[in-house]
Amino acid sequence: MVVGFQGSLFGVPEGRFAQIALDTPVRREFAYCVPSRCEPLAPGCRVRVPFGRRESVGVVVAVDDHPPANVPPDRIKSLLAVLDVEPLLTPALLRLAHRIADDTYCSWGQALSAMLPAALRRDRPRRTIPVVELLKEVSTEEIEELEKKHPKQAKAVAYLQQAGGPMEVREFRNRTGLSKSPLDTLAKKGWVKFGRKQEVLDPFADIEVVRDSSPKLTSAQQACVDEVIGALGREVYDAFLLFGITGSGKTEVYLHAMEHCLEQGRGAIVLVPEIALTPQTVSRFRARCGQVAVLHSGLTDAERHDQWLAIREGRVRVVVGARSALFAPMPRLGLIVLDEEHESSFKQESTPRYHARDVALERCRLEGAVCILGSATPALESWASAMNPGGLRLLELRERVAGGVLPSIQVVDMRVQKPEKGKWLVLSQPLVKALGDALQRKERAILFLNQRGFAPAWHCKSCGGSVHCKTCDVALTYHRWRKKAICHYCLHEEPPPQVCTGCGRPVEMVGVGTERVEDSVQRMFPHARLARMDRDTMLRRESYEEVLADFGSGNKDILLGTQMVAKGLDFPEVTLVGVLNADTALHHPDFRASERCFNLIAQVAGRAGRSARGGKVVVQTWLPDHPAILAASKHDYVRFAQKELEERKLFGFPPYGKALRLTFEAEHRQRVEQTAEEAAAALRANMVGRTKILGPSAPPMEKLRGRIRRQILIKTDRDGLHALREVLYALSEKQGVTVDPL
Ligand code: ADP
Ligand code: ZN
Repeated sequence: MVVGFQGSLFGVPEGRFAQIALDTPVRREFAYCVPSRCEPLAPGCRVRVPFGRRESVGVVVAVDDHPPANVPPDRIKSLLAVLDVEPLLTPALLRLAHRIADDTYCSWGQALSAMLPAALRRDRPRRTIPVVELLKEVSTEEIEELEKKHPKQAKAVAYLQQAGGPMEVREFRNRTGLSKSPLDTLAKKGWVKFGRKQEVLDPFADIEVVRDSSPKLTSAQQACVDEVIGALGREVYDAFLLFGITGSGKTEVYLHAMEHCLEQGRGAIVLVPEIALTPQTVSRFRARCGQVAVLHSGLTDAERHDQWLAIREGRVRVVVGARSALFAPMPRLGLIVLDEEHESSFKQESTPRYHARDVALERCRLEGAVCILGSATPALESWASAMNPGGLRLLELRERVAGGVLPSIQVVDMRVQKPEKGKWLVLSQPLVKALGDALQRKERAILFLNQRGFAPAWHCKSCGGSVHCKTCDVALTYHRWRKKAICHYCLHEEPPPQVCTGCGRPVEMVGVGTERVEDSVQRMFPHARLARMDRDTMLRRESYEEVLADFGSGNKDILLGTQMVAKGLDFPEVTLVGVLNADTALHHPDFRASERCFNLIAQVAGRAGRSARGGKVVVQTWLPDHPAILAASKHDYVRFAQKELEERKLFGFPPYGKALRLTFEAEHRQRVEQTAEEAAAALRANMVGRTKILGPSAPPMEKLRGRIRRQILIKTDRDGLHALREVLYALSEKQGVTVDPL
């Protein structure tokens, strides 16, 4: 049966035809007839269509009077429904998505789908979120008892207990890897209760907004603002790199640029890392720009939907949000700000694998807007561009506004620090002393460690073996609160191993995680009030704000945690920052390892000394002579960038060349090896110039969730990449293959 058939001449349906981009890896659009009830239809509207045996929501990218030449007319199905009266996506956003699809090796539909909030990818937005909550106090003994017969229920209870309040069911599943079924059983027993959480209309609505006026700008700030305002006045594309040390008042520059933009009747988008999207940040923008839409991952469907419409209709002219706010359908866009532009969270690690920096610049180019990238430690790509005539225009803020100075950084060589007999060394002597002094002066400290759990591995002294996950190529981490060895990738857990699987001799727990630090610090300073912030203590969305508020109001002395504590926090009372293991970033086989290490130290250090009291940073490392650590300890970004860029140039890495990683995965080794070999052959057959194809080889993690993996690395230049394009596009459509531009 032909759906929506409206009479025809020689089998050709009447009416118009729409090209629809659908969320599938296939890099083409699909033609449908437009029934008259769906008219007038315009590009940018969402539609519901039959696709294969299902229905799917797609975006209209073109409407035409003639049927497409390449499809027999009687095979063309009809649209089922139009979901928007007005186009939801502007023509500029449609083109931007096309560009993203080409640059990141996905389909137009996949790129468009990533632009839309989840609510709009579905037909009907959800208004409430399912949550689950523990109803009774459960003792450790009870959990252990439950463990014997029903380990999954025990795990569920342990996590709900740890969450300390209603947990979103989706979050529960993400964190535990469990299905809903143990929860159902527990609900029957009366241990847990399901509920629904109302969509919060605006999680930031409650915070008090005091309209404030701007402080008098410093002359350095004024100079930056003048440049940007000049560019806005020309109403054509322009792009800046605002290089300003932590606390130099970059935000004030953004705010002035935004105010100017609003006066011009144009809109502005500000992107900040998800983790920096706090009430603190939001209230600062609201205080000066009035109505501000906030887009972040914590938003619920209905809420996003409403905000999108408000933006699309021009009712809200300022958007603040994380990565995906980049796609806010702002008409008459004047400015995009990317704060902390070096942050790796601006790169999306799922399809489409775009970098917000590239897309922001591209969008500004398409819409004649101004882009400001801001950072104390710019990405080397941005720095190189700013050093280039014709690249980003460099704006600088070299001093802290409040007269504060950058904290002194002490590097502690952990190779010469001796642990107490029989103990694992967690805090070096200099850090213990500094912490003791800070506590005595009633000042606050932040301790940073990029490793959660108690200990990240077990080691066998006899054979050198370690204890790995059964389905992933990764060491198991001991989590003391669960008394389990846990795989951080597949979430599998098992009792802590006693003996080595290789030789049967006893194994020893090695390394330091946040739980172990908490334990050590608490032993050394029993009166210190400590808050730990990592994925194990932050099981509910609300937890993050609660802990920060607690720390900010002086109820805690020490904030200990993973990268959650490293960035963006502005607590003037913090005078000490301890980096417990500065080298972790350096052990990854990645050409950006040094850059990451430098950035991390510089950013964490930036949390200290934000007031006249000054600050101190202690950096513990096993590689005290590493150039990244040395440069960071001197706050010498410029020299570090120069040296590192020389090296990138020598080896042809970005920004001086293009690099891509292809990952292949399958259940069977033979299958994955074959696919990877064939891909490598196809690539080699098309390579030109200085292109290098490395592999296929086993990636650092050869096995993940039971699937075997292979990778190919490509190093090339613009022409070389162009020559490989068709092969890469074909690969991107295959299942089990990822093409990732690095
Ligand atoms: P950055 O983003 O560069 O780290 P911020 O913009 O957060 O720095 O500014 C640091 C602090 O200085 C903020 O509390 C801000 O309100 C204050 N500040 C910024 N500019 C000025 C100024 N011209 N005069 C006084 N205080 C300022
Ligand atoms: Zn695993």
